[in-house]
Amino acid sequence: MDDAAPLAPASDDQIRDEVAGWLKANWDPSVLTSAQAGRGEAYRAWIAKVVEARWAAPRWPVEWFGRGLSNEQARIVEREFARVGAPGTGQDRTQLYANTLLAKGTEALKAKLIGPILRGEIVMCLLYSEPGAGSDLAGVRTRAELDGDHYVVNGQKVWTSTAATADYGMLIARTNWDVPKHQGLSFFFLPMKQPGVEVRPLRQITDESHFNEVFLTDAIVPAENLLGELGQGWSVLQTALAYERSVMGEGARGPRSGVAEAAGEEPLIALAREAGVLADPMLRQDIARVIAYKKLNALNTARAKADLAQGTSSPVMSLGKLAMSRILHEEARLRTAILGAASLLEGPDHPRAEDANFLTLNAYFTSIGGGTDQIQRNIIGERVLGLPKEPEVDRDVPFREVRGG
Ligand SMILES: Cc1cc2nc3c(=O)[nH]c(=O)nc-3n(C[C@H](O)[C@H](O)[C@H](O)COP(=O)(O)OP(=O)(O)OC[C@H]3O[C@@H](n4cnc5c(N)ncnc54)[C@H](O)[C@@H]3O)c2cc1C
Repeated sequence: MDDAAPLAPASDDQIRDEVAGWLKANWDPSVLTSAQAGRGEAYRAWIAKVVEARWAAPRWPVEWFGRGLSNEQARIVEREFARVGAPGTGQDRTQLYANTLLAKGTEALKAKLIGPILRGEIVMCLLYSEPGAGSDLAGVRTRAELDGDHYVVNGQKVWTSTAATADYGMLIARTNWDVPKHQGLSFFFLPMKQPGVEVRPLRQITDESHFNEVFLTDAIVPAENLLGELGQGWSVLQTALAYERSVMGEGARGPRSGVAEAAGEEPLIALAREAGVLADPMLRQDIARVIAYKKLNALNTARAKADLAQGTSSPVMSLGKLAMSRILHEEARLRTAILGAASLLEGPDHPRAEDANFLTLNAYFTSIGGGTDQIQRNIIGERVLGLPKEPEVDRDVPFREVRGG
């Protein structure tokens, strides 16, 4: 990034005053109420402005769009943005692609893509899972072979969210078949809009088509789009997965009916009040339990984020993701219990039932995507609790000799 003069150190009060003053001068809430909120010109222009003013990723270094703020100071910035309802900051916590690129990308790739990613100008996707490699990602069989100044990629990916519109995919591919499976992998930013990439949508149980099959046939990826060292893709992947799990541990999609729930109140309490069952002692107990889980999970996620800020890919992230999956299933079950028989209804005339049903089905997103609940339990068992490792017969065998479909 140009114009990277160091910023003078500032106290917490100075930062609060500066960000509050900047928001007062620049934030226009109509950005969010415009017809195409989230996708429209006004929204994109706002995000670009936040990036330019270095509020998008204030924890990052000055030369990369940041301000080099501590976590506590960046939280001040986030609180000020939240106070006026302005989006765009906190990308140094939540922007999985830009964070991975900043941590592991070449200078050339960072200079080319970090800005557009932060500004939301390019769409990204994750090219990890394959028909024969999901939980066991180290078993991927998509191959990338060096040919001059680029790699040629062949294979198939699946469950690839947003692939249909993506400009780049974070790709894990095998570059060496003569070493054990974790050692022969490399990590790339693959350009998606090219003849060698074919995307076919898949239908989900929510009746949406967010994810896809991706067929790679002689697809080209420039050598400078390699992240980390050749053959060190497993370690880059761990960094990227830790970011993904931390985002999933913090939250998930809410109801999709668009019919507003009572503002400022815990949604389950508001729903129970609306349905006239708030006095039911069993429901009250269940609601209290979900709220307690949420509070605990928020504290745990903050702890895991602090680890990540120190540069370690914390296995505690797995605890947050697993907890969020449990919260979402529990919350959806409770919405159904609160509505009773009315939860069987569907369609726009019954938005609360529509939401309960959607959230019941969509809860599986968090318990499968980004690594299943069972895999998170394995990670917690082995890396947090120190239990013996699962036996892995193919761990030390050259991948070429590993049996697979
Ligand atoms: C909504 C959604 C979006 C997704 N988006 C993407 C995406 O954008 N990009 C991408 O690459 N992938 C994506 N995925 C794929 C997801 O990461 C995989 O589905 C997941 O990692 C599981 O892999 P799998 O489907 O191959 O199941 P498998 O690995 O075949 O697992 C099948 C079952 O066996 C269990 N199991 C497997 N191994 C073990 C073990 N060692 N111990 C205990 N139990 C085990 C699993 O928990 C699971 O219940 C998405 C998935 C969903 C649901």
